[in-house]
Amino acid sequence: MIKGKSAIVTGSTSGIGLGIATALAEQGCNLLINGFGDKAEIEKLRAGLADKHRVKVVYSPADMSKPADIRAMVAMAEKELGACDILVNNAGIQFVAPIENFPEEKWDAIIAINLSASFHAIKAAVPGMVKRRWGRIVNIASAHGLVASGGKVAYVSAKHGLVGMTKVVAVDHANDGITCNAICPGWVLTPLVQKQIEDHAKQEGIPVEKAKENLLKEKQPMLKFSTPEDLGALTVFLCSNAAETMTGTTVSMDGGWTAQ
Ligand code: NAD
Repeated sequence: MIKGKSAIVTGSTSGIGLGIATALAEQGCNLLINGFGDKAEIEKLRAGLADKHRVKVVYSPADMSKPADIRAMVAMAEKELGACDILVNNAGIQFVAPIENFPEEKWDAIIAINLSASFHAIKAAVPGMVKRRWGRIVNIASAHGLVASGGKVAYVSAKHGLVGMTKVVAVDHANDGITCNAICPGWVLTPLVQKQIEDHAKQEGIPVEKAKENLLKEKQPMLKFSTPEDLGALTVFLCSNAAETMTGTTVSMDGGWTAQ
């Protein structure tokens, strides 16, 4: 049912966002990809997705900390792809420190990118969805949208806020053909997390495999990472007919993290 639809996936030059963009392209969805990175690499990625899956793919360099950029990104999708039928709010950053040492500028950046960006994108995309009587909004929250971990005051606040935003949008547009849901992943093996693992292994003088195990053990009963492909498949499901009445909810993919 999503063949021929058009989707925006923010932060899709890497990790989970790239997994979701790829899964949507595999279903025949046209795409607007977004995120930072090397220009030539991004162009290779854009052209590769378009050629392999025979869909239209455009790139927006919009900075998710800038509301005007976000509005321009949604307008670009509507102009160049004809619509924004599916909006996946995925771009996110992290910073860890106890609250008394947490820099104000890190708080502002995390709230802007991990929370406010979704408000601005949804606000810009919803009028078109209402007009077409069809829309799917998928917010990539986190296990940290449901529970806390020490040192992550901005991230946990933003992700809890995003879960709240998901519920309000779902209620406001329950009868407009629009669903809005949040996915709450546990540990996902993205380049970002891989780097943290390698740094930890180096610091502790332990093998990378042991460092991976330590990271998982601390939070997840299941000692296994989810993958960007898993998250892509879940997003495709939330956009499908079968999920038509799923709205305003959180779906965890977290190896049992939040079951405890
Ligand atoms: P990642 O660093 O691999 O990817 C982040 C993407 O966001 C990149 O494409 C990056 O360029 C983009 N980005 C960052 N700042 C941006 C900005 N200001 N404007 C536009 N794009 C920007 O990270 P990831 O692990 O794939 O994380 C993706 C999302 O999943 C985030 O919201 C994160 O909080 C969430 N998440 C990740 C995990 C995990 O274990 N990796 C777990 C739970 C939730």
